[in-house]
Amino acid sequence: MEKTDIRSLTLECLQKRLEELGEKSFRAKQIFSWLHARQCESFDEMTDISKTLRSKLAEEFRISNLKIVEVFRSSEDNTTKYLFDIGNNTIIESVFMQYEYGNAVCVSSQAGCRMGCSFCASTVDGLERNLLAGEIADQIYKIHKDTGQRISNIVIMGSGEPLDNYDNVIDFLNIINSDKGLGIGMRHITLSTCGLVDKIYQLMELRLQITLAISLHAPNDEIRQRLMPIAKRYSITEVIKAAKTYADVTKRRVTYEYSLIKGINDSRENAGELASRLHGSMCHVNLIPVNDVKESGYVRSSEDNIRAFASVLEDNSIEVTVRRRLGSDINAACGQLRKRYKDNEVL
Ligand code: SAH
Repeated sequence: MEKTDIRSLTLECLQKRLEELGEKSFRAKQIFSWLHARQCESFDEMTDISKTLRSKLAEEFRISNLKIVEVFRSSEDNTTKYLFDIGNNTIIESVFMQYEYGNAVCVSSQAGCRMGCSFCASTVDGLERNLLAGEIADQIYKIHKDTGQRISNIVIMGSGEPLDNYDNVIDFLNIINSDKGLGIGMRHITLSTCGLVDKIYQLMELRLQITLAISLHAPNDEIRQRLMPIAKRYSITEVIKAAKTYADVTKRRVTYEYSLIKGINDSRENAGELASRLHGSMCHVNLIPVNDVKESGYVRSSEDNIRAFASVLEDNSIEVTVRRRLGSDINAACGQLRKRYKDNEVL
């Protein structure tokens, strides 16, 4: 049987496991800080832990340790894309982004994805596997080590649907937020979902201060169902109701992501319909010019169209931003690099 990944255990779980091994609970804090503050890669690095305990730990546990396969630095902006091997040649990608306010890492929550959105490269080959909490955290640790930069913000927007890997993602949030680890504040973390309504309500009960981003991409069920299979399970009305309830309960403004695809969801009429649906809710709309994915054949909307779409929303008092396209020269978007790597198109 495979050993438990010790990096994936929350401090609370680690304390329990150590008690079971007959160890004092303060040892858990020490070990947790080795794993998450000092980000060690082997038990031997834990020099203030006795050799006996270190070998006991090594018998009981393993430490997840991602390998950098390739690093792509954008020549256009301060974006760096990482391809990691998480074991057995399973590849995931993460992005390091530098902004004026600090550095952010976009992490993957699954290798591949089973949501099937028609514009997204991450889902083309289906779900390979869920990532463990420690593997999500290790993307940040490895990028921190490679860049030497402090990381202040996290977006869970790489490949995968985080709410389809709910328990591991919640453990990850707990670990990364811990003051014995990196201590990244919940308000500095954004979780993006295609809209798994039941899970949104479940998440709401935890009352975390993270930002919830909902991938809406359409103003009505008809268009949404063409783009996103999940829209057949939950109607747009249900998704928006869940997001509004989430905002009311957590007092955190929700972000709606809307990828603009030429001729599909980018008309003034579409913008008007979206505005009336979102009217009066505490939200923010992030317009993303769609990134070409060769499997889909979708084309991004023109600059004029994007501006017109945004101004309809603004005229209806809905806050809107157009996302800067970071790292487009290195395929730093939405599973594109991993896909091209797997297809042997890069390197
Ligand atoms: N599964 C989650 C998070 C991963 S994708 C979700 O659906 O939100 C992060 C964001 O990128 C989502 O809004 C997703 O819809 C969007 N996205 C995926 N492929 C894209 C593409 N080709 N162009 C623009 N946005 C895309």
